[in-house]
Amino acid sequence: MNLQAPERIANYIAGDLQAPINGKYIDNINPATGQVYSQTPDSDAKDVEEAVGAALAAFPKWSTTPQEERFKVLNRIAELIDQNLDALALAETNDNGKPLWLSKKVDIPRASSNFRFFATGLMHVSTESHNMEDKAINYTLRQPIGVVGCISPWNLPLYLFTWKIAPALAAGNCVVAKPSEVTPMTGYLLSVMCREAGLPAGVLNIVHGAGPDCGAAIVAHPDIKAISFTGSTRAGKDIAATAAPMFKKLSLELGGKNPNIIFADCDWDKMMRTTLQSSFANQGQICLCGSRVLVEESIYEKFKAEFVARAKKLTVGDPLDENTKQGAVVSKMHFDKVISCIDLAKQEGGKILLGGNAIKGSGRTENGYFIEPTIIEGLGPSCRTNMEEIFGPVVTLQSFKTEDEALAMANTSDYGLSATIWTQDVSRANRVAAKVHSGIIWVNCWLLRDLRTPFGGFKNSGVGREGGWEAMRFFTEPKNVCIEL
Ligand code: NAD
Repeated sequence: MNLQAPERIANYIAGDLQAPINGKYIDNINPATGQVYSQTPDSDAKDVEEAVGAALAAFPKWSTTPQEERFKVLNRIAELIDQNLDALALAETNDNGKPLWLSKKVDIPRASSNFRFFATGLMHVSTESHNMEDKAINYTLRQPIGVVGCISPWNLPLYLFTWKIAPALAAGNCVVAKPSEVTPMTGYLLSVMCREAGLPAGVLNIVHGAGPDCGAAIVAHPDIKAISFTGSTRAGKDIAATAAPMFKKLSLELGGKNPNIIFADCDWDKMMRTTLQSSFANQGQICLCGSRVLVEESIYEKFKAEFVARAKKLTVGDPLDENTKQGAVVSKMHFDKVISCIDLAKQEGGKILLGGNAIKGSGRTENGYFIEPTIIEGLGPSCRTNMEEIFGPVVTLQSFKTEDEALAMANTSDYGLSATIWTQDVSRANRVAAKVHSGIIWVNCWLLRDLRTPFGGFKNSGVGREGGWEAMRFFTEPKNVCIEL
């Protein structure tokens, strides 16, 4: 198949690719050029209503389709993602501004892994049975919920979209999904691949549009019984406010302000290399980036000098250039937000050690949204810069004297998504990991993850866990059956 990015994206409803009912579109802007390169539907509650109708109609058949047939079609989608790696990576880069090589190496392969993981997973699901000695046997049926809603953000567009859709479909649900309106293209291309793969009409419906209209209509729809959402804490609160009184099942994967805790006994070279990545990968727009770098006092000055020197060498520029390490941030609005956060850091008394400014591109990227990798020191743990998510190429440095002080600084945050610990002392690594208030802890590494493990955060980083069996379980309704012997 020849996958191509169209000038006008279509909704995918009841197996068809169709225009939004209201005929309205949102401009889709390439952040590396600042130019409109396509349009995405500005759908509203009417399109969502159609999508829900299609999903309800498809549910009885899909939920009883033999596992092997469901496996085959979901696995075929994984194969198509692999076969269309180049087209998908280019679409993602044009939507998002991230380096093309990064899309090719990480984002798109992970999207096909998601489909492959849950396609094969559904073939091996087992349910629990509990024996009450000679009195009774209880067993738990795990049935699909029905129609579920999946809403995802712009930072890892296809990867996070498929991370929700694949387990929902594998568990036998029908889905109404919405990618971010800022990065809709790979979601659209997924719908083209689902048609090619033979996914039955209505099993997956992808409705494009803005959060407050289209997204809110998905959350509020009474026939959508569960919502899996990844995005900002602000939107997560609104979603919870709508969904909780309707008693919907909710998984909320929200923001982060992750500590990267570096002890003096770390493996220096590995720590340096990885800290550069965990600070600036994807222009710092990964929810798991370590935006607060906490360094033991005895190595603070050495760390600072080398970290700044290495970050200075990161090439910022055209995402299509394979030498580019840092592309554009995702949109003008986000660019303005990140720049205003840097201004706030200065007002709070922060000292800019590196960067702090916009970068002007040249040629096709002269109107792109580029920001220098930025390193700031001199701010306490509870100022706004260290408490609020910036979600850009900006990190702060702080020093600590003791393990307890490091933990107190790490846990000051209202967020609790992930943390990274650098030390060669195994006991300390385990001790600190147990005490950091985060859902995901990396010791002497970053971003490594087995898809079987639970994924999600504490505190304002959300509720519920995704990944592996947690995700399959989330998308089922457990029902206990008790038989008296
Ligand atoms: P966002 O909350 O603005 O939007 C996310 C999605 O929700 C989009 O599809 C948007 O259209 C939709 N939306 C917005 N308001 C809505 C509403 N009221 N009702 C329903 N849908 C709504 O987030 P963003 O700016 O796209 O993404 C960045 C954020 O996502 C950051 O905070 C980042 O930390 C977070 N994130 C978290 C994880 C995680 O796994 N915890 C992963 C990636 C990104």
